[in-house]
Formats: sequence, structure tokens, C-alpha cells
Amino acid sequence: MKIRREVLEFEPYRVLEGNYRIWLDKNENPFDVPLEIKEEIFWKLRALEFNRYPHITSLPLREKLAEFLGFDVNNIAVGNGSDELINYLVRMFEGKYIITTPPTFGMYSFYSKLYGIPIVEIPLDEDFHINGDEIAEKSRDALAVFIASPNNPTGNLQPEEEILKVVETGVPVVVDEAYVEFAGKSLLDKVLEYPNLILLRTFSKAFGLAAIRAGYMVASDEVINAIYRIKSPFSVSSVTMIIAETLLDHYEVVEERVKFIVAERERMFRELRDYAYPSDANFLLIKLDAYEYLLSKGIVVRKLSGRLSGHIRVTIGRRDENDEVISALKEFAGDNGVGGF
Ligand code: PMP
Repeated sequence: MKIRREVLEFEPYRVLEGNYRIWLDKNENPFDVPLEIKEEIFWKLRALEFNRYPHITSLPLREKLAEFLGFDVNNIAVGNGSDELINYLVRMFEGKYIITTPPTFGMYSFYSKLYGIPIVEIPLDEDFHINGDEIAEKSRDALAVFIASPNNPTGNLQPEEEILKVVETGVPVVVDEAYVEFAGKSLLDKVLEYPNLILLRTFSKAFGLAAIRAGYMVASDEVINAIYRIKSPFSVSSVTMIIAETLLDHYEVVEERVKFIVAERERMFRELRDYAYPSDANFLLIKLDAYEYLLSKGIVVRKLSGRLSGHIRVTIGRRDENDEVISALKEFAGDNGVGGF
């Protein structure tokens, strides 16, 4: 037996596990689905035939999403988390390399490395913005360009006109809108105009459904058809679909929580403005090397590296959790005589 060298040398995606009090490291929603909605889900699950495979192209959930977004079902694909869709998107188009814009979400390069696809990195500028002209120029032989907006881990939206400069070249552009509900600004109204524009979304953040693994994309029917040619046939379970559909029926709950999280984000930003960058997402990028300090208090956040070494990414939590983070970080900065920006 011989395991491929790429696999043996692969850096796996790691997260901290253990007995800590406060988890603010994965940009999860701090609120579980309300019990009344869970009860509704449990009743639907009672009627589900567990011995049957789910719908092969997830039609029930796609129909619900089509209605929710005001799109045709042929413009929507769903996956086992948006990660599954990224896994296909890096292999679907002709071209020699993918383009990413670091610091950004790691899964675009994760899958590309696994398949031996070269990665061209065009770093964000000092305000963490993309340069549309530069990406457009370098995209001639690209198979796809990946842009997260709002970006993870920096939290900012990318300017629409910069993204459209890249889209105008005709190269497939995947705009990852995992955090879009916290930003209130989307490229959804451009999808039908550009067959090469692909929007990626998830149920893991605003919808608070990270456990069930559901993501979706909105794109031209040409792209959606291609995805369903290569997609693992039953990867989205019936249980997942039922839960996601039920939350779409209760979108007012999602909206209410998004409103709370955005208000908390702005409160935390004001409290920590000497160290925090503005954010359009459900987390803050903070210029303090406080990972170990917070961990010693039982608070888990994301430690960043490379260009962002010495920074942490903190998910917005419940009010009491946020209060603890604010006072711990103020203590840390005070004790270390950190001046901020
Ligand atoms: N895109 C971005 C930008 C993310 O931050 C994440 C989650 N960390 C994902 C996609 C993946 O989400 P999912 O749970 O749908 O796989």
C-alpha cells in the first residue's frame, strides 16, 4: 500500500477540542434552534422513511430556496455544507490554476492542493480590499477566482465594482457569501446577468445550522447542470433538508438573531475599537496577540498566522460571552501596555 505523497504531506484542517467554557473560534451562531421549531422538525422526522435515500438532486430544499430567493430552481444547487460545493468548484472549469486573495478562507486552497491544482495568490491590500484590475489581468488562464465577501478572517465586504471588473473578463468567479446575512449586501441581483458569476452561501452561520451541514450556490443553469453531473448523488441527507426547509419557513427567527448579533458586533467594535477592525460579518478581527491569554480564561478564539500573526478572530457570541471577551481583552491590553492602532 502506498499513500499519495500529497496526502501524507497534507496539512489537515485542525480545530481545538477540549473542556473550555466559551467557544468563539468557528464563527458559529451562539443560539441553538428554538425548542418549538425543533419540535416541529421532530414531527416531520417521525414521518420520514429512514430506509429511503434522499432526493437525488435535493429538489425539495432547492424548491424552497428558489421560492425564498425569488430564483428558478435550475439556478440553485445544494451541498453537504458549502465546503462540498467548493470541492467541486475547484475541479469543474477548464484552466491552469485558481486565484485566491489571502488572507482568506482556507478551503479554496485546501481542495486545490489535494488535487494538485496550482494556486495563484493575489493578496488583499492594506485595507483588506481586492484589486479588481490586478485579478482581472492575471485571470486569463485561471480556472476560477475565489473571493469571499464578507471575507473571512478580515470581516469586510469587497467592493462590488472591483468584483465586477473580474466577472467582466468571463472567468468563473465564485463569490463566497457565507456571512452575507450579517452584511445586508449581496451580488444576487447580478447572477442572471453573468453566467460566470457563482454565489456560495451556507446554513451554518446566520441560520445557526452548522451541525446539519447544508450550503447552497446560486448560479447560471449551465453551472448548476455541470455541478449535478459530478456531484456525489446522495450527499445531502433528508434530515438535513427537512431541517433547512423548516428554518426557511421561520426566517423571522433568523432575522431577529442576525439583528442581535449585528448589534453586539457593533457594541464590541466600539468597546474594542483601539484593536478591532470594522466587520460586516459575525466576527471581529482583533490586533492583539491574546490567544493564550483568553484560553487561560476558558475562552477559545481563532489564532491567526502569516500576515495576520499576532491577531485573533473572535466570533460574536451571546451578550454574557461578549462581555467576558471585552473585559479580558481590555485587561490583556492594559497589562501589556498595548497601544492599539
Ligand atoms: N465559506 C466561508 C468564507 C466560511 O468562513 C465557511 C465556514 N467557516 C464556509 C464557507 C464553510 O461553511 P459550511 O459550513 O457551509 O461548509
